[in-house]
Amino acid sequence: MALSTVTLIPGDGVGPEVVASTQRILEAAGAPVTWDEQAAGASVFRAGISSGVPAETIESIQRTGLVLKGPLETPVGFGEKSANVTLRKLFETYANVRPVRELPGVPTPYSGRGIDLVIVRENVEDLYAGIEHMQTPDVAQCLKLITRPGCERIARFAFELARAEGRDHVTCATKSNIMKLTEGLLQRVFFEIAPEYPEITADHIIVDNAAHQLVKRPEQFGIIVTTNLNGDILSDLASGLVGGLGFAPSGNIGERVAIFEAVHGSAPKHAGRDVINPTAMILSGVMLLRHIGAFEVASRVERALLATLAEGVATRDVAGVDGVGTVAFTDHVIANLPSREAETATREYQAVRVPAAPLLPDPTVPATREDVGVDIFVEWNGDPETLGHSIEEIAAETALTLKMISNRGTKVYPPTGAITACVNHWRCRFLGRDGVEPSDADILLLLDRVGQRHRWMHIERLQRFDGELAYTMAQGED
Ligand code: NAP
Repeated sequence: MALSTVTLIPGDGVGPEVVASTQRILEAAGAPVTWDEQAAGASVFRAGISSGVPAETIESIQRTGLVLKGPLETPVGFGEKSANVTLRKLFETYANVRPVRELPGVPTPYSGRGIDLVIVRENVEDLYAGIEHMQTPDVAQCLKLITRPGCERIARFAFELARAEGRDHVTCATKSNIMKLTEGLLQRVFFEIAPEYPEITADHIIVDNAAHQLVKRPEQFGIIVTTNLNGDILSDLASGLVGGLGFAPSGNIGERVAIFEAVHGSAPKHAGRDVINPTAMILSGVMLLRHIGAFEVASRVERALLATLAEGVATRDVAGVDGVGTVAFTDHVIANLPSREAETATREYQAVRVPAAPLLPDPTVPATREDVGVDIFVEWNGDPETLGHSIEEIAAETALTLKMISNRGTKVYPPTGAITACVNHWRCRFLGRDGVEPSDADILLLLDRVGQRHRWMHIERLQRFDGELAYTMAQGED
């Protein structure tokens, strides 16, 4: 098999120890890789590079398309960017893959239940786009952006992974019952794509129930695909089921670049003490080997690691003061490489076909598109009725009528009788008068008039695509 060059980033804190352990084991196993060592993280921030990732590292990754990386600190006081997030975003690694598997020799309350699942978390969209605004001095907003192309590629990736790992079950976990348009988009797209994989059972679960079921009966799951924030939480929960951070590997997979790393951070208090558990990073190395199609050597490393754990060889996080050091643990794994072929079963893996992630995907073009109205958000330190009367007066001179005003998503004008605590952030919903589509000029005139009396900070066009409303109703609105 041809050698693959891997950009190796030792990282911060315990990173160099766990990366060195993995590198030694992969080399001893004869993995078909060569290394291109590069820097990122704390030392780079200190050198004044505000992204934490120098140009040489970026160039190396562009060349190799493969990264094995230690944890990176985000030092306080060196700008607000995380080098980890920078790397994931720079290379559009849209799928975060976190396998969670019961391991021998790692006792947990779930031992013997046969947990063997993978969480596929969308890695670049959702609230993590980081688009935040203080809309009034009292009200913060974070935009939750979920896109059809983003949902298509993550859903397809989950099914492709199931195929590659010989799994027959993919579950989509969303909060579509509440966020019908955003979370609901992943659910809808997931079921649109599912028929392309007829041999795989596709089902949906509300994400809070997914958390409940993961704790109650984790063995029921195969692959769980979910949005970014949900995946962040579910995957940490799931790694806790099988022994915690020391055992949680991950891959950040894109069409052109794949970054493999342990889930844990730099654990600075353990740095340089030869006590850290390298298992998560070794398993990340196994994922890398499978990603490049080196299945036999990947399984050999995995079996040697599982055999080592099964023998009771464990670091301090599992064995307390009797635990072995990082280097001694690594030596045991290497010693187990040749002889443990048949003792621990691993899956039959095939290469994952990573779905295309075009940089300019084809847009969806609805057959019809109508303008219905506009939401104008205003800051107002008063009661809803006074605001309502004022806005109705303003709208009377325009081509739009006030339908309702809501506060934090609940209709407060015209009054509904509900008891609603209100903040100084009001959404005024206007519709075209007598159902006539408002023009841009109509909307801008309205905005101008509103702005003469009230401070507005945000507007949102209300549309209908193919006859379907492209916005949701407020609580209490009909
Ligand atoms: P952390 O480094 O993951 O460490 C938290 C605790 O988890 C450790 O103190 C240790 O617990 C345990 N732990 C972590 N890795 C372990 C391992 N391999 N073996 C055994 N135990 C392990 O989290 P943090 O302290 O919140 O973050 C430290 C720094 O890492 C921060 O600068 C953060 O930004 C960064 N970070 C980077 C990444 C990444 O690069 N992907 C991810 C997360 C955090 P005990 O104290 O009980 O021994």
